[in-house]
Amino acid sequence: QADTAMYYAKELGRNNYQFFTRKLDDKIQEKLALGNHLRRALEREELSLHYQPQVDIRTGRIKGLEVLLRWNSSIQGSVSPAVFIPIAEETGLIVPIGAWVLRCACDQNLKWQEMGYPPQSISVNISARQFREPMFIESIAEVLKETGLDPQWLEIEITESIAMENVESSIKQLKRLKELGVTIAIDDFGTGYSSLNYLRKLPIDTLKIDQSFVQDIGRDENGEAIVIAIIQLAHNLHLTVIAEGVETEGQLDFLKYKNCDEIQGYFYSKPRPPVEIEQYLKREKVSFA
Ligand code: C2E
Ligand code: MG
Ligand code: MG
Ligand code: MG
Repeated sequence: QADTAMYYAKELGRNNYQFFTRKLDDKIQEKLALGNHLRRALEREELSLHYQPQVDIRTGRIKGLEVLLRWNSSIQGSVSPAVFIPIAEETGLIVPIGAWVLRCACDQNLKWQEMGYPPQSISVNISARQFREPMFIESIAEVLKETGLDPQWLEIEITESIAMENVESSIKQLKRLKELGVTIAIDDFGTGYSSLNYLRKLPIDTLKIDQSFVQDIGRDENGEAIVIAIIQLAHNLHLTVIAEGVETEGQLDFLKYKNCDEIQGYFYSKPRPPVEIEQYLKREKVSFA
């Protein structure tokens, strides 16, 4: 009986293994296919940019717009950045795609200024591979020069994890960025492993509280404690602090009470295409504040 049990266990193991490798194969195939489609996405003009307002928590005025990439694939339909950005990173496609995002966002921002809207800062997400690219700083300087956008209206977002990995080289790179006159935000703050000693050495302007902590507001006291700690830390370091992923009035009230500076999230607006953002830009002041 023990022998038969052993036999079944082995068989089961083998089948599971085959099942597992087949599933893994499918995953790899799917990724390769997506990578190939992504390669053509730029030339097929399947990529576009959405913008999400960052709002002053006291005045309700728009202080900036985060640029979020969208891919509407002719083959897969709309693909989430959470899926295709990692693929773009692995394949290196993020470098040309990222350059396009930067150029397109600066053009759009300038266009809004020419249309007479009050000037806004646009925040562009930069991935690890872009940030470590030898010509990264030069490419930003070039876009600023070519478009003529005043650098004060461009913000670069890098995640806490990117900033803290190889931190000495990050400090150098960020200093060079600052010399261009752009501002710098640390994204997804609280999810990485920041050395506070290094954090104070980074030449940054803004901390963005990760949305996972914001979603804890009213639900989990430990998450709330982290939100409060990040706000205080930011202010002690003379940084602006933004809460990401604000969805409810309760979260807004808490953040206001705790002196957070800006909010970004569905409560105010989801990321929207430029024409829809213009409706927000038209309004000088918003009503909720
Ligand atoms: P992120 O930079 O942290 O961007 C915030 C994400 O939260 C966005 O997801 C946004 O749509 C979403 N979000 C905003 N408000 C809310 C809210 O109230 N509730 C919830 N649940 N979500 C909210 P998205 O657009 O899917 O982008 C995901 C990530 O992909 C971004 O995270 C960023 O890391 C990356 N990404 C997006 N566009 C670019 C890009 O142009 N370049 C690079 N390198 N990465 C990008
Ligand atoms: Mg800002
Ligand atoms: Mg971001
Ligand atoms: Mg984030």
